[in-house]
Amino acid sequence: MGSTGSLHGKVALVTGSSRGIGRGIAERLARDGALVAVHYGSNEAAAEETTAAIARAGGRSFLVGAELGVPGDVDTLTAGLESGLRAHGESAIGILVHNAGLNLMGRSIEVLTPEEFDRMVAVNVKAPFFLTQRLLPRLRDGGRIITISSVSTRVASAHGIGYPLTKGALDVFSRTLAKYLGPREITVNSVVVGFTRTDMTAEVLDDPVNLERNIGLTALGRIGRVPDIADAVAFLASDDARWITGTKLDATGGVNL
Ligand code: NAP
Repeated sequence: MGSTGSLHGKVALVTGSSRGIGRGIAERLARDGALVAVHYGSNEAAAEETTAAIARAGGRSFLVGAELGVPGDVDTLTAGLESGLRAHGESAIGILVHNAGLNLMGRSIEVLTPEEFDRMVAVNVKAPFFLTQRLLPRLRDGGRIITISSVSTRVASAHGIGYPLTKGALDVFSRTLAKYLGPREITVNSVVVGFTRTDMTAEVLDDPVNLERNIGLTALGRIGRVPDIADAVAFLASDDARWITGTKLDATGGVNL
């Protein structure tokens, strides 16, 4: 787990940073010096653990609660963000990480309902789209947008079809937006996540057969850990990645090479 200290003076919003990969990203960006808006959907206690961990490490953060994928989600999130920014004497953000995601696993094409389909689209695609739209005036020129994608966009998944489809849509969003925002020197990239142990994957990875199969598919021979992803995001957020835009950074440990 590194720290470049390169984000001093920057403000980052990380959606879904109460738990899992988002928490790891929030902690890492804070360690690099950013003031981090720690967003959560319903699990405020977990989000408070994230802000406490950041404070213990000497970093700065504040909480923003807003369930995504429901009417008014962007309004609620933006209001919370703006109040947190004001409290810290800030008015803009430099780094926007779309991490919050919903994976209803095991839903083959035969069983996925229209309601489940709509829910995944609402959280994984519609929310990042309209949150970006709302925050564009508050995103500094030269800033960063980073989306969290999935290896299931390049390797057909045994665990469902709706979720990969939403991540594929998010990839097209990122690439297209990268062109549009180039004149403002805002980079837009996605980080592709492979098999990584979090609440989302606990059930799948607790099955020894799935565990061994997923390790076997991964060139580096283990299941991913949250810092593996957070460090990749920190790189894209840093000045070192200033000339990288419209691309996907595969942080899967080499799944299905
Ligand atoms: P996780 O452990 O399930 O955590 C999900 C986070 O997103 C939580 O902070 C949760 O907030 C938030 N969230 C979920 N639905 C939300 C909603 N409707 N409104 C607001 N917040 C919501 O998931 P994770 O494994 O860390 O996944 C993070 C990202 O990586 C996701 O985009 C996921 O698709 C992607 N990914 C993960 C893997 C993997 O192997 N873990 C693989 C590929 C891609 P609350 O705590 O408030 O519920």
